[in-house]
Amino acid sequence: MGYGATLAEGWQLYVDNEAGQTRLTTLQGNAGQQQSQTIAFLTGFWTVPPTLFRTPQGFILRIEGESGQTYVQIQPGGVQALNTSPNLAAADVIPLTQRTHSVPGAMPPMAPLPPMQPLPPMQMNPMRMRMGDMEMQMGNASTPDPMRKFCPQCGQPVRVGDRFCSSCGHRLGELTQS
Ligand SMILES: [Zn+2]
Repeated sequence: MGYGATLAEGWQLYVDNEAGQTRLTTLQGNAGQQQSQTIAFLTGFWTVPPTLFRTPQGFILRIEGESGQTYVQIQPGGVQALNTSPNLAAADVIPLTQRTHSVPGAMPPMAPLPPMQPLPPMQMNPMRMRMGDMEMQMGNASTPDPMRKFCPQCGQPVRVGDRFCSSCGHRLGELTQS
């Protein structure tokens, strides 16, 4: 849980509280060249949300925590806590936007996705099945049609183990594998 505000173009402020520590982060620059500075103050847990003021001397964030009020001056050159309460009578209040997650600069970088592993090619071992006098081959079998049980010459059904077609006498050499 935290708050954020745009102080100026390309100048962002984020403030959150973690375990009683108020963390102030300023981000300056554009997305390509961004400088971030984080300063932590021991303030205790906030009793009310922090308030951001704009004064002629710069921005001032008032943190009201369990250990009292803390004023932090935010200038383009840096962030520093103030020892004395500033005069905020003429200051403008800058609304802070509630943030559901913490400072973007403090977030762990997204882990790059591992490169997709190419699927290994399907390996099919040559398979041979034998049931009685039926023989079937799959994969790298030499017979292109493993289910062939017909004479290539006359088309009559033949038994796979036969050397010759029983109808026309055609030699069934390629079927006689034993
Ligand atoms: Zn035949």
